[in-house]
Amino acid sequence: MQNAFEFDERLLKAAAEAEAAAAAEFAEIDRISQHGTAKVLRAFQQNRVSAACFAGANGYGYDDVGRDTLDRVWADVFHTEDALVRHHFVSGTHALSTALFGVLRPGDLLVSVTGAPYDTLEEVIGIRGSGNGSLRDFGVQYRQADLTAAGLPDYDAIPQAVQGAKVVYLQRSRGYSLRPALSVADIAKIVGITRQVNPDAVVMVDNCYGEFVDYDEPTDAGADLIIGSLIKNPGGGIAETGGYIAGKAALVEQCAYRLTCVGMGKEVGCSLNQCRSMYMGLFFAPEVVANARKTGAFAASLFRSFGYTCLPESGGRAGDIITVLELREPAAMEAFCAGIQAGSPVDSYVTPEAWDMPGYESKVIMAAGAFTGGASIELSADGPMREPYAVYLQGGLTYGSGKLGILQAAQFMLGRGLIRL
Ligand SMILES: *Cc1c(COP(=O)(O)O)cnc(C)c1O
Repeated sequence: MQNAFEFDERLLKAAAEAEAAAAAEFAEIDRISQHGTAKVLRAFQQNRVSAACFAGANGYGYDDVGRDTLDRVWADVFHTEDALVRHHFVSGTHALSTALFGVLRPGDLLVSVTGAPYDTLEEVIGIRGSGNGSLRDFGVQYRQADLTAAGLPDYDAIPQAVQGAKVVYLQRSRGYSLRPALSVADIAKIVGITRQVNPDAVVMVDNCYGEFVDYDEPTDAGADLIIGSLIKNPGGGIAETGGYIAGKAALVEQCAYRLTCVGMGKEVGCSLNQCRSMYMGLFFAPEVVANARKTGAFAASLFRSFGYTCLPESGGRAGDIITVLELREPAAMEAFCAGIQAGSPVDSYVTPEAWDMPGYESKVIMAAGAFTGGASIELSADGPMREPYAVYLQGGLTYGSGKLGILQAAQFMLGRGLIRL
């Protein structure tokens, strides 16, 4: 079937074996997807989603039925009191920044218990860059409990670290690091420890890349607020832009005050023509996340058979949609990313090159040919050109296309003599 691409026969054989070896993992991914779909479908039905929800309002957006119903659907899916799902969030970082500025006040202490937060948040917090307009500039203090050498939360250090914290902050995903993603069980443990020493702290979770990867979400584990991006998992590859914040109603309201205005909050902000794609995206999301995870599991299985170290480890529990392939040499990263690009449905004719991306110490190479700009729920691969020359692979709207993308990447490496079969 894949011969339209003229893949090497030895590669197709290795692919069939890799897929067979991942069968148990695929089955578990399907069970989780079915569970997520049930949550979503039930929430649509219970909130009486109808065609009127897709019409979209303009102007101030008072009584915007599509927007208000979507917030309730979202809250039901994530088992929270309330949610703020908006195309007005320009990115995940914007949603996270809104949550932090919404909840924190001058003099408050923010404590990250999963080490340094995602790169783009360092400037928001004020631990990198000029600090101008950052949380620090507004008198919010910051402290972090670093991860252990194994990249795990330092459970012994957390009780001390969270004392006096207004917000205890966790990042679920590995992000662009080799540490494992947090499981929902890890998050439950952190919430438990925090509540013992600081029952009033707001536990806030950066849920980017984590939605629908497990049966439960951080809010099922006791987190007060979760935040994410709609051009990742919960947008299902269909939402065109946006983000969400979900959790305790009083906290969601504070975030809405920050996003729009104090006093207006959630009552304004028209949905324009974005509702239908946000609803459809959520509807597709559990299945699309499953497709992305299967693409990653297939890649890890195949590249392990070539002798590479791939994360998460075989049999390890995933907490996000990222798969790391340690390719050990720059040429391998270049060939892999060129293959992913060539295997994309959009911009397949371009060749990615490593470049000096602002804010990064090493050059970064990125491959993505997506329908939505920057959407990493679509097949993409990137990484900094430095030891251990690891590519971070994520996305894949359909498993069939994701698999072909991975095969194209392997074929490029084979053609350049970087792998031997
Ligand atoms: C994507 C992501 C963010 C936010 O990034 P944006 O590019 O602004 O959407 C934050 N944290 C994690 C872990 C992420 O994966």
